[in-house]
Amino acid sequence: MRCASIISGSKANCFYVESEGEAILVDTGLSFPKVEQSFAELNIDPNKIKGILITHEHEDHVRHLKRIASSYRLPVYLTQETLNKTGLALKDCHIIKAGDDWNIGEINIHAFKVLHDSDMCLGFNFMAGGKKVFYASDIGSYDDEILKKAENAHFIGIEANYEPSMLRACGYPQHLKDRISGGAGHLSNPESLAFVKDIASKNTRNVMFLHISENSNCTSHIERMIDQDLHHYLPEVRYIITNRHTHGPLIEV
Ligand SMILES: [Zn+2]
Ligand SMILES: [Zn+2]
Repeated sequence: MRCASIISGSKANCFYVESEGEAILVDTGLSFPKVEQSFAELNIDPNKIKGILITHEHEDHVRHLKRIASSYRLPVYLTQETLNKTGLALKDCHIIKAGDDWNIGEINIHAFKVLHDSDMCLGFNFMAGGKKVFYASDIGSYDDEILKKAENAHFIGIEANYEPSMLRACGYPQHLKDRISGGAGHLSNPESLAFVKDIASKNTRNVMFLHISENSNCTSHIERMIDQDLHHYLPEVRYIITNRHTHGPLIEV
């Protein structure tokens, strides 16, 4: 399997995962022309994509859903709660729920619920060719059940949204700071670090940090976390810090 962050952050999210035969897009927060440009730069053939999965209804995940789905003529997989909230009329729409397992081509997908301030928010596991990709963006906190979902993953995509000291000092109103850090908002750098250390196994090859805030985080904090801690703890692992403005590399899982 291979995967790439097409875009990740508080303004737009889009993630790509492919096996030998098929590919899937997760979330559609980026405009169609920019998605096309990213695919061209990464040598991704959009004909390979067989479906779009949506984590939840927030604009940074669904803003360009209708245009991308209709331009590529792709089925959309989302929960009833998410569909209701978006209010979109989608041509080819499959209602999914937390706990569902299904296949798109040779890629097996497992959807699971994550805590976030939306009506319903999903994380996904993708499995193909003996490899496992775990993806959880917009995850306010995690418990043993989520850790179990990530068990033995070769690729871990996990949110690292804010640095606690930066969130405290930033100009957000207090209620927004409370929402972000309140357990059903977003995951902080230290929580993300603890998650990776909790779940790391002999399978772990790649760790991708997602949804990095523009106002309450800085990649230098994550780089320090990697250099001073994770590199010693898990030296063989490749760490990828996602970018709010552009795609990352296509990564061999
Ligand atoms: Zn988001
Ligand atoms: Zn969200």
